[in-house]
Amino acid sequence: MRAMRLHAPRRGLELEDLASAEPGPGEILLKVSACGVCRTDLHIVDGELEGGRLPIVPGHEIVGTVIARGRGAERFSEGERVGVPWLGWTCGRCEHCRAGRENLCAEARFTGFHRDGGYAEVALADERFCFALPAAYGDAEAAPLLCAGLIGYRALAMAGDARRIGIYGFGAAAHIVAQVAAFQGRELYAFTRPGDSAAQDFARKLGCRWAGDSTQGPPEPLDAALLFAPVGGLVPLALAATRKGGSVVCAGIHMSDIPSFPYSLLWGERSLRSVANLTRRDGEEFMRLAPLAGVRTEIRRYPLAEANAALRDLRDGVLTGAAVLVP
Ligand SMILES: [Zn+2]
Ligand SMILES: [Zn+2]
Repeated sequence: MRAMRLHAPRRGLELEDLASAEPGPGEILLKVSACGVCRTDLHIVDGELEGGRLPIVPGHEIVGTVIARGRGAERFSEGERVGVPWLGWTCGRCEHCRAGRENLCAEARFTGFHRDGGYAEVALADERFCFALPAAYGDAEAAPLLCAGLIGYRALAMAGDARRIGIYGFGAAAHIVAQVAAFQGRELYAFTRPGDSAAQDFARKLGCRWAGDSTQGPPEPLDAALLFAPVGGLVPLALAATRKGGSVVCAGIHMSDIPSFPYSLLWGERSLRSVANLTRRDGEEFMRLAPLAGVRTEIRRYPLAEANAALRDLRDGVLTGAAVLVP
């Protein structure tokens, strides 16, 4: 089977012909029909995340059909379509796992980071961590739901009942969470790189009440801000745009350093927090919610062998919506 594999950071992915693995106990083997390209993949390829395995096949927004099942794997039948997210395995025993916070498990193994992922024709997954996908979506259209959608949903949930929501960085995650937030009756304010009028137009088209440069303040103070751009310098700007008692939620796995800022920006019971990974419960909830909320994903397809081009376009900020690899 063909796969795009990373051997060393900052060297790009190489197209290789690998032996297809046999599913072990509890595992399913999938014929990949689409795999989303996430900013986390870019951080892995660029060597900005510690602790992953090398060589590794990235990709954790996998849509595929079951072609073989290991011993005891009975949750899905052969031929069924399933989705594979970032959370690939957890210990099930630690205090976080037992408290319903498996996203924080120290032993967790992540798809496309510790386990080979979906930048390939075939992928293996532990069936307990896979999701059934809503029928309303085509394979490529469903792929971004599996991380961009899920993480956006978890970040939005952290904002509680905030009504005026600011979104910093209007890429794959933001374009989905904006639709969910609009469905929930919230007001959205989109902040993009200065002068990125394409992203600002896209944000307005998706129901944002206001869109502008991240260096600008919003027309009204925000109740909460969600940061999807991996830029630490946005944290003080987002705090300054948020009212007393509001929250700023950092949704990315990696961010450049946050510059020092005056305490007055945090004062007034503002809170600053991150969102890490996902739980299976997030996935089940979000896969039910996405079609109800009428979420549509804007995607750009790339052939599997062009994964490096897809990553480059993501790095350069020229994508509207999400990149998806199709074998
Ligand atoms: Zn655990
Ligand atoms: Zn991701």
